[in-house]
Parts: sequence; structure tokens; C-alpha cells
Amino acid sequence: MIDTHCHLTFDKLHACVDQVLADADAVGVDRMISVGTTPADAARALALARRYPRVFATAGVHPHYAEPFVDRAGLQDALNEKLADPRCVALGEMGLDRHYPEPPMEAQRRVFAWQLELMMDPQSPAAHLPGIIHNREATDETLAMIREVGVPGERFVFHCFTGSADELDAILDLGARVSFTGIVTFGSARALAEASDRVPIDRLMIETDSPYLTPEPHRKVRPNEPKYVADVARFLAERRGLDLDLFVKQVDANANAFFNLPTSGNP
Ligand SMILES: [Zn+2]
Repeated sequence: MIDTHCHLTFDKLHACVDQVLADADAVGVDRMISVGTTPADAARALALARRYPRVFATAGVHPHYAEPFVDRAGLQDALNEKLADPRCVALGEMGLDRHYPEPPMEAQRRVFAWQLELMMDPQSPAAHLPGIIHNREATDETLAMIREVGVPGERFVFHCFTGSADELDAILDLGARVSFTGIVTFGSARALAEASDRVPIDRLMIETDSPYLTPEPHRKVRPNEPKYVADVARFLAERRGLDLDLFVKQVDANANAFFNLPTSGNP
């Protein structure tokens, strides 16, 4: 089973990464994608990916960290350097987040646009990579920016989806994949669980976004770890009335294809 989005570089997981990987393996979570949130964080994720064959990395700037990046060429060069590494499987996470007042939307939009441009730049390794979108309470703007730059919607996954059924439909209309974290298992998120039923199974992915968002029935456990992606899988398989093994086979096939992960020689 693949955890398609975690942050092994964040202190709580990084400090005990060998144990985190062993515990994941023990429950069948044998691969994970450690998502970069800045170029420096992506370098740490890549270091892990080079050390552990079951870990893959990505490179991007999360909207929360957008503000200091004011030099377009400097940022694009820094990202290209990471994206050129064969262990780097996607651009992102990148996008827009209106949940907090900071950083200003102007900075978020600037840095998101520079990253989207890379996906259309034949000189950039990002021209051949998928994109991971972080969108919180900014679905319309995010979709509009993607359309403006002209990147085909099928190249994106909207990670940690928490929006409404209408927002979900708009993302599906774009052609993007949709990924769910432990939030979908929360008793307080019934509408989200119902919305998840609308995602065609061949466009569905699962993730932990660990160290955050531990799924039920372990919600009180901190930090969240990749091993708990198994609980997201169990929850969604049950909702769909699907056998867990079949469900996992399908979402793993989706992730393998989307991120172009090697299918042979896995640990
Ligand atoms: Zn994340």
C-alpha cells in the first residue's frame, strides 16, 4: 500500500524515521511519497529517498511558505535542480490557502504561478511530472489559475480534499485526481465522506499528510504516521462496499500510474 502524501522530513517523523518505516511496513504500507514544502525541505526529502528505496520525494513550495520567494528565476532553478533527480516524482505541494490571513494572497498566487509555469516549460523536468495541489478554501481561484496557465487538469492531484460536493465536481470536471486524508474518517466530516463517494475509483488516491491528521480510530494519536493510511483505505473501501484488497489494488495502481513509480524492484 502506498501513502501518496506524507512529510517524513518534519521533526516528529524525521527523528525516528527508521521506526516509522518499519511500523508502516509491518501493516503493508511499503511505499510512501515524502512531499517537499520548500526547496530546502525537498532536499531533505530527496536525501531520505536516496537512502530508502521505499521513499520517494517531491519538490515544491507550499503556499504557507510562499512569501520569502521573490526571485522567479532563482526559485525555478532551485526547484528544477531537485526535480531533475529520478527519485523526485512530482512538483508540489503548491497552491492557494485562504484558511489563515497570512501569507498574503498576492505572494501565494505569485509563487503558485511560477510553479505552474514550470509544468509548461519544455526545459524544466516538471514538463514531464505530475503536480500536487494544496487547496484550502480557494478552489475557484486555484482552478482559474491552472486554466489560465493552461496545464491539462489530468496532470494534477488535489491532495487532502476537504471541500464541498460542488467543489469536488469542479475539480473532477478539470480532469484532476482527488486524494483523501484521515479527515474523511472523522465523525464530524459526514458530508465529506459522502462527497468522496462521487470520485470515480480510477481517480481516487489516499494519503496521511502525516505528521498531521491521524485518522479514526486513532485520531488522538500524535504524530500521525504513514502506517495509518491503512485506516483511510479501510474507511473508504467500506463506504464503497468494496473488498479492502481490491480497493487497495486499485488506488495503488492509480498512484503508480499518476506518479510513474517503478513497479518492479520494490522493497
Ligand atoms: Zn502536505
